[in-house]
Amino acid sequence: MKAKVDRDICIGCGACESNCPEVFELDDESISIVIVNKIPEALEVGTLDAEEGCPVNAISIE
Ligand code: SF4
Repeated sequence: MKAKVDRDICIGCGACESNCPEVFELDDESISIVIVNKIPEALEVGTLDAEEGCPVNAISIE
């Protein structure tokens, strides 16, 4: 599993970082970035929660 954040859509609310800080982090511009390339199995549920919790659907999962 891989996660991606669309920088043009992200509003920097920080919900994904709160939901799953092992995968998402706000960068210097307060836009979320994905800090792991391949999501480890143990973090898949948290990553999906973050995707669902994004208010603007900026997160996509492959
Ligand atoms: S939850 Fe969505 S809008 Fe909020 S910081 Fe994460 S990617 Fe951006």
